[in-house]
Amino acid sequence: MTITKPSSKAIAIVGAGIAGLSCAVRLKSLGHRVELFEKGRGPAGRMSTKRGDDWTADHGAQYFTARDPLFMKQVEQWLASGVAAPWSPSSWSSRRTNGRHRNQKTYAM
Ligand SMILES: Cc1cc2nc3c(=O)[nH]c(=O)nc-3n(C[C@H](O)[C@H](O)[C@H](O)COP(=O)(O)OP(=O)(O)OC[C@H]3O[C@@H](n4cnc5c(N)ncnc54)[C@H](O)[C@@H]3O)c2cc1C
Repeated sequence: MTITKPSSKAIAIVGAGIAGLSCAVRLKSLGHRVELFEKGRGPAGRMSTKRGDDWTADHGAQYFTARDPLFMKQVEQWLASGVAAPWSPSSWSSRRTNGRHRNQKTYAM
C-alpha cells in the first residue's frame, strides 16, 4: 500500500486572533499555503495589547491557563521564543479569587 501525502492547498483564514493564528501555524506545518485576513490594525484579536508612550493595557485576556498537553507543548515554545511569560496574580488578586489560581500554571503574552 502506498501512502501519499495530501496535496498542498491554498487556504484563506479570516481573523488573526489566537484561533486563526494557531490554525495558520498548524496548516503551514502540514505544507499548505495559508493567507490570513485581518480587519483590525494588527493581529491578536481579543488578546491584543494597546500601547501608549509609557503604558500598556490588555483589551481582553490578561492571562490564560494551559491544561491540555498539546497546548502546554505549544506554550513551552512560546516561552522559549519569549512571546509568553509565566503570570502570577498579585497577593491582592489571590485573596480576591480565594486562591483559585494557586495550583494552575498561568501565562501572559
Ligand atoms: C474583557 C475580556 C477579558 C478576557 N479575559 C480572558 C482571560 O483572562 N483569559 C482567557 O483565557 N481568555 C480571556 N478572554 C477571552 C479571550 O480573549 C478569547 O476567548 C480569545 O482571545 C478569542 O480568540 P479568537 O481567536 O477565537 O477570537 P478573536 O480574538 O476575537 O479574534 C477574531 C479576529 O477576527 C477578526 N475578524 C473578525 N471578523 C473579520 C472579518 N470579517 N474579516 C477579517 N477579520 C475579521 C477580528 O478583528 C479579530 O482579530 C477575555 C475576553 C474579553 C473580551
